[in-house]
Amino acid sequence: MSISESKTLVIRNGTLIDGSGAAAAANTAVVIQGNRISSVGELPGGVNLEDTDKVDVIDASGQWIMPGLIDGHCHLSFGMPAVQGYASARGTINPGFSAIRAATNAQTILRSGVTSVSIPGGTWFIEVGLRDAINAGLMEGPRIYTAGRFIITYGSIADSEPSWVGAPEHTYGVLANNVTDMITEVRRQTKHGVDFIKLADSTWGDTQTIAKEEISAVVEEAHRRNARISIHSRGAGSTKAAAEAGVDWIMHADLATEAELYAVAEAGVRIMPTMTFLFEALEVGKEKGRSDAELDIIKRNADNAVTVLQTARSLGVQVMSGTDTGNSPVMPYGVLHAHEAEVMVKFGGYTPLEAITASTKDNAYSVGMEGELGVIEAGKLADLLILDADPLDDIRVLQGGKHLNSVIKDGRRVDLSAQPEDEIVLALP
Ligand SMILES: [Zn+2]
Repeated sequence: MSISESKTLVIRNGTLIDGSGAAAAANTAVVIQGNRISSVGELPGGVNLEDTDKVDVIDASGQWIMPGLIDGHCHLSFGMPAVQGYASARGTINPGFSAIRAATNAQTILRSGVTSVSIPGGTWFIEVGLRDAINAGLMEGPRIYTAGRFIITYGSIADSEPSWVGAPEHTYGVLANNVTDMITEVRRQTKHGVDFIKLADSTWGDTQTIAKEEISAVVEEAHRRNARISIHSRGAGSTKAAAEAGVDWIMHADLATEAELYAVAEAGVRIMPTMTFLFEALEVGKEKGRSDAELDIIKRNADNAVTVLQTARSLGVQVMSGTDTGNSPVMPYGVLHAHEAEVMVKFGGYTPLEAITASTKDNAYSVGMEGELGVIEAGKLADLLILDADPLDDIRVLQGGKHLNSVIKDGRRVDLSAQPEDEIVLALP
């Protein structure tokens, strides 16, 4: 059935949190035609609710309607869930298996109420393929906006092998130790259809591994090819360099000093603190095999991230919401995508309404759809959730899909019954 022939969908009588930042309000009808919202408010004259051949009605009395969540930082193909018998979480050397596993991960995410994800890096070009398969209607999944493998130098995150081994294709970094190699990699990745380029500095931010001139060169080449650019940058030095070089957004920035954040504000660059991962690692990292030394570093970055979040907000830096789900065994799919909103409320002084706006309207930027997505308004894309509890009363209502009655993506209702109850651990054949 083509979109023009599909039924009109009407959501009646819910409390509407429209994602724009406006206060929640009682709503008579949200009308969806094809994959877009056609009206919000009074039921339009032309829609006959009795005509069940043409109209589907959801009664949302006593429930809450809001835009689908957007997780601005998710990885689908790093190798989660873990495979028994594999020492490393970093995936397998089998691209086909990895692609199919990533596809199941994408479905888990969608069924937890996340209708869009921004993916700053994966293995091979798996997420590019997934994005295209979902857009072509081959499978159900969230909207995907994706980078390829991180562009890294020696000493950057994901440079995990000795130099004589390099960075094999099944890992999520690709070594480029000079401007020429970086530009070649930008060209290769854009040829293969990435939406944005992911540069990556050092793991925890203690050293700066990419020079400002190198970042500038990558920004220029990526933008010339209509790709955006983001950078994994935690530390002093790299965050300021990235802001001045004109990257589109900075991930983490959790060791940034106040002076660095001034530079970020001055440049008008967005940041995505991605604190969920830090807090989750502190919570369950030990049992998942993280060393005490690493947890000490994570504690340092988490503490500083709280200061960064508050300072960035006071300087007027636009803060986006991302979790780093799928980056390691501490970050399972479908569970933690709304935890960043809780962190914003708990530590950043956000109201639940502001945290929802950050996770919907503001996060549309992270999937390249600002103005199209993240707000329930006539003309916007129809990605919506219906909840049986009030997220403004308790922001944790959004977590893990536990309070979802409906997920609507692109105007279609998602089948939530297929969701497995427990975390999956795959066994090798
Ligand atoms: Zn990440």
